[in-house]
Amino acid sequence: EAKAAGRNTHWMFEAKAHARTAARSSLALDMKEAIRRGDFFLVYQPIIDVTTGSVVSFEALMRWRHPEHGLISPGEFIAVAEETGLIVPLGAWALKEACREAVYWPEPLCVSVNVSTVQFRGGLEEAVIAALASSGLAAQRLKLEVTESLLAQNPEQAVAVLHRLRAIDVHIALDDFGTGYSSMSYLRRFPFHLLKIDRAFIRDIADPDAAAIVRAMVGIGERLGMGIIAEGVETAEQLELVRREGCKQVQGYLFSKPLPAVEARAFARSGRAQKASAARERNDRNPPP
Ligand code: C2E
Ligand code: MG
Ligand code: MG
Ligand code: MG
Repeated sequence: EAKAAGRNTHWMFEAKAHARTAARSSLALDMKEAIRRGDFFLVYQPIIDVTTGSVVSFEALMRWRHPEHGLISPGEFIAVAEETGLIVPLGAWALKEACREAVYWPEPLCVSVNVSTVQFRGGLEEAVIAALASSGLAAQRLKLEVTESLLAQNPEQAVAVLHRLRAIDVHIALDDFGTGYSSMSYLRRFPFHLLKIDRAFIRDIADPDAAAIVRAMVGIGERLGMGIIAEGVETAEQLELVRREGCKQVQGYLFSKPLPAVEARAFARSGRAQKASAARERNDRNPPP
């Protein structure tokens, strides 16, 4: 009986795996069509400098409006796009779109774009240069977010591309820091401009051990000359604690969820107004002689 049940489970597993494969390949087919039709779009989440209270950058995050399945998040389609290689045209589109949008924000606001390891083997440098050229965005207003897996897979080639991008003034952030394998060794392979501490550490920051780890990450990043961003700050308590551990930039639902482009534009402009009024307040308190 147990054997029969085992066979049954096995059969069900295969059926499920098959259904999953089928779903994936139909998703991949849909994706080609969706790129052509323009069903992908970007939302933008502000990154705040806590020392001034102003927005410094927005992270562009991809969304897919599927005609039947509705809104699909990148957690569901990025892996498929990577497996099929479709991330190359999709990623090039995202770079172009994000740069085109950032032109509408007051300077010196930046845009951060996530790039997949697969794009490094698919002409990333050319895609970046094309996006900057077609939008007219200054290179120093574009940041790329990469993960540790990039440096694990083909470090020499990846590092060479990163250095060339750095040379044209594009800043590079190490995303999801602390979640990959052997994080520390990657910090020596490339001089990242920014380190993004993964949400997992921020979520648990009320725990003194998690707080100690965040403090250590901030210390290492600063000693290496990198800016630090805390990802996924959701509560005022978490904000207080990440500030205490020395994080100067934060991103998370406490400030804003990722916003549609029109709302991000408004946020970008008010972010500047906020900063201006803060400066006025300071002047009011210390009137110039
Ligand atoms: P990521 O680059 O680490 O982006 C941060 C993710 O955390 C985003 O999820 C964002 O919506 C979410 N988030 C931000 N603040 C909070 C918070 O306070 N609480 C919680 N619970 N979540 C928060 P999203 O948009 O679903 O993206 C997931 C991942 O998909 C990204 O992680 C990134 O790795 C990937 N991704 C998104 N867009 C792109 C893209 O254009 N290209 C590539 N290659 N990957 C992308
Ligand atoms: Mg990111
Ligand atoms: Mg991240
Ligand atoms: Mg992440």
